[in-house]
Amino acid sequence: MLVLLDRDGVLNQDRADHVKTPDELVMIPRAAEAVARLNTGGHKVALVSNQSGLGRGLYDDQMFARIQEKLIAALRESGGHLDATFICPDPPWDAGPRRKPAPGMLEEAMRTFGAGARETVMIGDALRDLEAAAAVGARRILVRTGKGAATQGARLPAHVLPVEVHEDLWSAVEALEKTGPDGETDGDS
Ligand SMILES: [Mg+2]
Repeated sequence: MLVLLDRDGVLNQDRADHVKTPDELVMIPRAAEAVARLNTGGHKVALVSNQSGLGRGLYDDQMFARIQEKLIAALRESGGHLDATFICPDPPWDAGPRRKPAPGMLEEAMRTFGAGARETVMIGDALRDLEAAAAVGARRILVRTGKGAATQGARLPAHVLPVEVHEDLWSAVEALEKTGPDGETDGDS
């Protein structure tokens, strides 16, 4: 399966004022372990992240690279890695087709790995993650970390349903391993 991960609120703590330095990147407990578990399970794992802080001028490419290095190091410490990273620097007021909720980055990732919608799952904490996934027909998982509890509390609109909800990435990965590619429980029935 191709597992697409949002970053802020899924792998690391979300910040209303953006993650602007490596110090501001604080991993969510068990998130790195969850990525390692996906790697071990033979899944492809790709980061699909809006980084409007670039377009807003809050940090530059070099700083983003340093933040990414810290993320990669945190994953590596738990034996995990990303197979690819897709980011979109667009600010919301000048959003192109790659910025979630638009599906451009997800389509790029699916093309890169030759994955169809039925083999693709998106895990995110914001409505726009679910919307982008719905637009490409991928399976949708909402985690309650980051903005997730508020996203769930605001009621999920019909056009993103069905959505599976889990406490955090670790719980989501645990549930994924118990189900087949379509979200059906493995078995003969
Ligand atoms: Mg997020």
